[in-house]
Amino acid sequence: MTRQEFIKMCGLLGISIPFQSVLTSYKSSEETSKSNFKGNVLIIGAGAAGLTAGHLLRQKGIEFQILEASSVYGGRMKRTLDFVDFPIPLGGEWLHVEKGVLSEIINDPSVPINVKTKPYDMDVDYALYEGEEVYLKDIGFKIDQKFINSSWFDFFEQYVVPSVQNNILFNAVVKSIDYSKDKIFVNTSNGEFTADKIIITTPVKLLQTGSIAFTPQLPEHKREAINDVTVWDGFKAFIEFSEKFYPAAIGFDIGSDRDGEKLYYDAAYGQNSNRHVLGLFTVGSGTLPYRELSDKELIEYMLNELDEIFDNKASSNYIKHTSQNWNKEPFAKGAYVYNYENWRRVRTLGKSVSDKLYFAGTSYTTGEDWGSVHTAARSAIRAVNEIT
Ligand SMILES: Cc1cc2nc3c(=O)[nH]c(=O)nc-3n(C[C@H](O)[C@H](O)[C@H](O)COP(=O)(O)OP(=O)(O)OC[C@H]3O[C@@H](n4cnc5c(N)ncnc54)[C@H](O)[C@@H]3O)c2cc1C
Repeated sequence: MTRQEFIKMCGLLGISIPFQSVLTSYKSSEETSKSNFKGNVLIIGAGAAGLTAGHLLRQKGIEFQILEASSVYGGRMKRTLDFVDFPIPLGGEWLHVEKGVLSEIINDPSVPINVKTKPYDMDVDYALYEGEEVYLKDIGFKIDQKFINSSWFDFFEQYVVPSVQNNILFNAVVKSIDYSKDKIFVNTSNGEFTADKIIITTPVKLLQTGSIAFTPQLPEHKREAINDVTVWDGFKAFIEFSEKFYPAAIGFDIGSDRDGEKLYYDAAYGQNSNRHVLGLFTVGSGTLPYRELSDKELIEYMLNELDEIFDNKASSNYIKHTSQNWNKEPFAKGAYVYNYENWRRVRTLGKSVSDKLYFAGTSYTTGEDWGSVHTAARSAIRAVNEIT
């Protein structure tokens, strides 16, 4: 595989390849348990970053509260158990780095981790659909892993949520943050709160649309970075078929990689299941054909394009489908910051403000890597370490 193909493949699987992360140094719970910080922390958002931040603060014995706008935790790790006999990840799906990141998140070597993942086999079939032709390729996936009969969400639910769930206030939409005085005042749809420090994990798209008012307003360089980053749209769908007639993954040429990505893939790959589920992953302009369709139009469109590629096998084997439009999620409004964003801009997003506001989440990193669950978790580790 050439470097270009490798980057394209990584792009298709949602990996921010130019800045693939340097491993964050991993400190055990014993090393991180001491803290000189005496105060309380408010965390905004109960996605991967917010949950990780709460978990670490709990380990350090620091008082915290998580304010979550929706009625559930998990954010963009959302998954459904209702579709087939294994979890279907409607957002974050693949593990893009070594499995050791799971221990980093748990931060307690005494906890045995019972999560199975499967890297793609070296001889897996990957197809490229260009024009009207499908080219079968042997690409040797090595960098991504699937959770086996589990998901990112399930990992967090088992290992992280138990230590924070009593500290999550749901249906608390943060509307304004006043950090002009010693204490920080936070106004939500579910009451007012004060804190010494705040960790903000709301998706950057929501800050772009001004959904939180800051007093004083954020510094100019921060506002510029927020407004200038490109956030990709995001859409996923899953179709169950009675037979498997497709390869492990089919990438689509949708113009420039920088505009977006589109990939159909075997969502049941490696699962202990006899069910056949084809996933559709699209971001950026890859979402355009799908995201405004009604449910009926959507399945017609998908079956039609799959029938063209696979000799009408899609419509004859169709059982059911489900989909997730991330643009329509009120507390996400998109997928994630696009893979080719300027890394300095992402680093600016991750910087704290006035030793009071800390930013964590997939878009607020050190600029080495972004756009995935592990980057969200690692940015939370960084934010908590900065505070403490
Ligand atoms: C289609 C798609 C595919 C993806 N594929 C992968 C993949 O294969 N592998 C991978 O590692 N990553 C993937 N990702 C990215 C990954 O899912 C995210 O990067 C990660 O889950 C983000 O976590 P977070 O904590 O930063 O943000 P979120 O999960 O978005 O959490 C933020 C939380 O803040 C809450 N919130 C928002 N506004 C407010 C407010 N005003 N007040 C209070 N709470 C608020 C939200 O409800 C949410 O719960 C994918 C994402 C999408 C959309």
